[in-house]
Amino acid sequence: MAIHPSGDDQGLADPILLEKMDKLFACNIGNYIDLPQLVVVGDQSSGKSSVLEGLTRLAFPRDSGLCTRFATQIIFRRSKDSERRIMASIIPESDAEDAYASKLKDWTGKNLQSLDAETFSQMMTEVHILMGVSRSQDDGLPTFSKHVLRVEICGPQEDHMSVIDVPGIFRNVIPGKSTREDISLVRDMVQAYMRNPRSIILTVVPANVDIATQEIVEMAHELDPDGVRTLGVLTKPDLVDKGAEEKVIDLTRGKDMQVRLGWVIVRNLGQSELRGGVHRDAAEEKHRTRYPWGFVGRENFGIAALKNRIREIVTANARQAFSSVRTEVSKNLKTRQVGLRSLGLERTTMEQQVQYLLGIFSSFQDLTTQALGANYSSSDAFDDSKALRLATEIVTRNEKFSEDLSQWGHLISFKNVFPLQADASDIAIKHSESDTRLLSPRKVKDIPEIQEILPESSDISPPLRHDICSWIGDEYRQSRGFEIGTFNHVLLSSLMKKQSTKWVSLANGYIGDIITIVHTYITNGLRQVCTDRKVSEKLLSFLMDKLLETYQNAIDEVDFLLFVERSITPMTLNHYLNDNLEKCRQRRANSIQAKKAFDSPEGKVVRVDDLNHHQNMSNAEHAVQDLHDILESYYKVARKRFVDNVCVQATGYYLMQGPIIPMSLLSPSLVSSLDREQLDEIAGEEATLKRKREQLHKEIADLSIARDILL
Ligand code: GDP
Ligand code: MG
Repeated sequence: MAIHPSGDDQGLADPILLEKMDKLFACNIGNYIDLPQLVVVGDQSSGKSSVLEGLTRLAFPRDSGLCTRFATQIIFRRSKDSERRIMASIIPESDAEDAYASKLKDWTGKNLQSLDAETFSQMMTEVHILMGVSRSQDDGLPTFSKHVLRVEICGPQEDHMSVIDVPGIFRNVIPGKSTREDISLVRDMVQAYMRNPRSIILTVVPANVDIATQEIVEMAHELDPDGVRTLGVLTKPDLVDKGAEEKVIDLTRGKDMQVRLGWVIVRNLGQSELRGGVHRDAAEEKHRTRYPWGFVGRENFGIAALKNRIREIVTANARQAFSSVRTEVSKNLKTRQVGLRSLGLERTTMEQQVQYLLGIFSSFQDLTTQALGANYSSSDAFDDSKALRLATEIVTRNEKFSEDLSQWGHLISFKNVFPLQADASDIAIKHSESDTRLLSPRKVKDIPEIQEILPESSDISPPLRHDICSWIGDEYRQSRGFEIGTFNHVLLSSLMKKQSTKWVSLANGYIGDIITIVHTYITNGLRQVCTDRKVSEKLLSFLMDKLLETYQNAIDEVDFLLFVERSITPMTLNHYLNDNLEKCRQRRANSIQAKKAFDSPEGKVVRVDDLNHHQNMSNAEHAVQDLHDILESYYKVARKRFVDNVCVQATGYYLMQGPIIPMSLLSPSLVSSLDREQLDEIAGEEATLKRKREQLHKEIADLSIARDILL
């Protein structure tokens, strides 16, 4: 409150408390703390507005027909401004109609340089009209309103405090003036303010009436059962009948169970005194010297004593409020510190940016070492994202590639009529003739960024069940030369090329999948080690061309291996070829002999003549048979070699562990190759992030100061 030149020189709040509040407001924490709020309640005309005027030195409109018809909240704020500023506005009740509510909100008080009696009363008249409350007996308008007039007074000498003048409660319906609804409307409004735990309740009771008839005392007791924020005020001591004074004085001395904080007597001015320009403090002081009022203790008489008591209560309540604010502040401090940490290192200068990127790359390299070593227990990230388990993803895909190639890779099934042992390639033969299934060589979902460079791979059908020997026979007859008893090696070459036609799709599909797996790993891994999504995206797009180059290397290697296996003269030093061939021939011989065998006392026997099973074959038939066996044996060796080479070279060398693999592009050495501009473009902080960081820094600083103040 303003230090009034003629009044006492202290406000309603304790100076030390005020100083603390000042500091809290200075570090923007004031908003966390509700201002102490003083609510003055009592019957109509009990002297509420007069008490408020005494306390605040503001000319609250009193009596004169214009009884309080809505709540007026006056907020005092201490501010550094040299001038006192007064602002007035209306807070519409919550269920007001939208259009009307916004009309009320638009209103602001005018010409409020000071809030002297005249200005105040003029403003009140204006607000009455705006709120549409009755101003005369017969205007038919409602008597009370739930909108709130809010007056804010800021100045260097104000308290941090809010004061509320509410309509007085009443019990009787007065025809043409107040209805039954008005009674409960006012009562509800008043009770809501009283219930608020931060309200300090001043129950105003005129000393010249029987206190037992004052419902307000009972009400305050109900809403503040501990009685820690209710103070009694006895007004109009000058109107107490002769002889009845003792009873009133007793009240200030005695222990009142209902108003535990006690009673203070306040002498305000009557209507005529007001008109006569009597000074309230002088009148009060004069009254105190009158018998028997001098017997009342100093702390129980006068507006100054009331202020003192209020100050005590405000301070005690604030202390309590501070402890919960302290908890709140600590909590907020912690979330902001966590928030700041999650933004990562600061990166404004070039050094900071280098440091930041180095951190990201070295974490990425660590992650990759673990991922390739299948050392998944080292980080929780591997549990959260399956895509990071790189070794496992690759091995699984390798196996699938090998399996697909063995079951689907050959164009026509070999004539393995008498299999000695089931071979993977035999399974395909068991498919029925009308097998219409198709196999998609791609197993992993495409990602758009790299889709374009991946080689084509169309779906493939199962191996044909044509008679392979008649196909070989045709080929043989069409390419026969002058050789005797054998065949041209070019023929084997062309048979091999046809038989391995589907390797192209299968291998392309495989390498497409592997590249997708690797790229997904890089994207996810980068996000894992770099929390700033923008930075990881920029890094990725910066590296994209180089990444694509490494992927292309792997694709080229697959092309190379396809060419080697399918287009140059079949060649192998692997003894497995001869083993296979031997097995084929043995199998053929066995099958023929088995047909000629008959039982004898020594077991199954075959005549020596029958052992010569080539007997009736033409040279051509013989050559075709040989061709089939050699093709089958060689195909198997070549297929296994191809699978191994693709996995070891294209994937292993070019994508996993060679000198130039995609993951090695994200290495600390990249940082040194970036110039200042590139660094800033990639690692520099975005304006919003910069602001966010600054904001967090400021909030943390403020909250830390606040925590110290509140200790
Ligand atoms: P409210 O309706 O509770 O706000 O009461 P007011 O403050 O408007 O006071 C009602 C009437 O009582 C006014 O005419 C005041 O001048 C008068 N009044 C208030 N307090 C005192 C007092 O202590 N002594 C005298 N004589 N009159 C008072
Ligand atoms: Mg009033």
